[in-house]
Amino acid sequence: MQHVFGPVSSKRLGQSLGVDVLPSKSCTWDCIYCQLGKTDAYAVERQEFFPREEILDEIQQAIENPAAIDWITFVGSGETTLYEGLGWLIHETRKLTDIPVAVITNGSLLYLEEVRNELLEADAVLPSLNAGSAELFERVDRPAPGFTYEQHVEGLVDFRKVYRGKLWVEIMLIAGVNDTVEALEDIASVLQKVLPDTVHLVQPTRPSTEPDVHLPSEEGIARARLILSRVAKVVHPVKGSMNLRNTADIIETVAAITRRHPLQERELRYALNELIPDKPDQVERMIGELRGSGRFRTVTLEDGEVYWVPTSDANG
Ligand code: SF4
Repeated sequence: MQHVFGPVSSKRLGQSLGVDVLPSKSCTWDCIYCQLGKTDAYAVERQEFFPREEILDEIQQAIENPAAIDWITFVGSGETTLYEGLGWLIHETRKLTDIPVAVITNGSLLYLEEVRNELLEADAVLPSLNAGSAELFERVDRPAPGFTYEQHVEGLVDFRKVYRGKLWVEIMLIAGVNDTVEALEDIASVLQKVLPDTVHLVQPTRPSTEPDVHLPSEEGIARARLILSRVAKVVHPVKGSMNLRNTADIIETVAAITRRHPLQERELRYALNELIPDKPDQVERMIGELRGSGRFRTVTLEDGEVYWVPTSDANG
């Protein structure tokens, strides 16, 4: 399948079936922590990048075994709401199934009324808020010209006023950048206006193209929890493992996942061990087959964590 991948597992969304609606990389921002690499050319116009029926058809095929899926999650190789048929896709998906629908977005287009309206039917929307000031926003998210911080916050606030589903704001916590007391106090002030249901702290655990993007320390995370929990419930999701149990072709599944984001080798091994329990030699054989396919290479981060990326991937 070209658009649908997974299910992958996360603490936030359980077994989540991903639906990628964009060509890589189409984004309004160029975040310093982006796992998709640099934004070579900003995309700012909404478009129907792929026929909407083609995407819906893939969703329909994938949910034939709905028991294995907790959420259907629209994500993009970039900014999800750039896809012009998103509202239609959410509506049609909800007609097909009772599985709840989530949208992961940077929130940059929420200032547009049409985008706010298109997301109303989603069960959960997860927009980003990485900075509490225009200056830090420019430094971390590096938006396309014309996209201002004020517009971003206004979009979030206006969306909250009309949206009845779960609004889970995501903050990418970066050591020395937005985990200081001052930066966190600024973010807390903005959250007071946005009124999310919860705040999800996430960390740059996947390779970025920028050398100065580092994981926050335990102290930084504790500081964030302390300051932000004054205004919203804060959760610090732990990355789960992907599920390979309903996968017909493991190489294709791993290829589809690594096209979207680098895959932690630990997560891959965990999923293979779940698939073939108590057979470590078979797991090793499968790892060997994946390596031998020539479709992946590995990248080792400074903390020793190993990630799988596509052979053609220029990042890392
Ligand atoms: S919004 Fe997401 S896709 Fe766009 S640059 Fe930032 S991290 Fe990458």
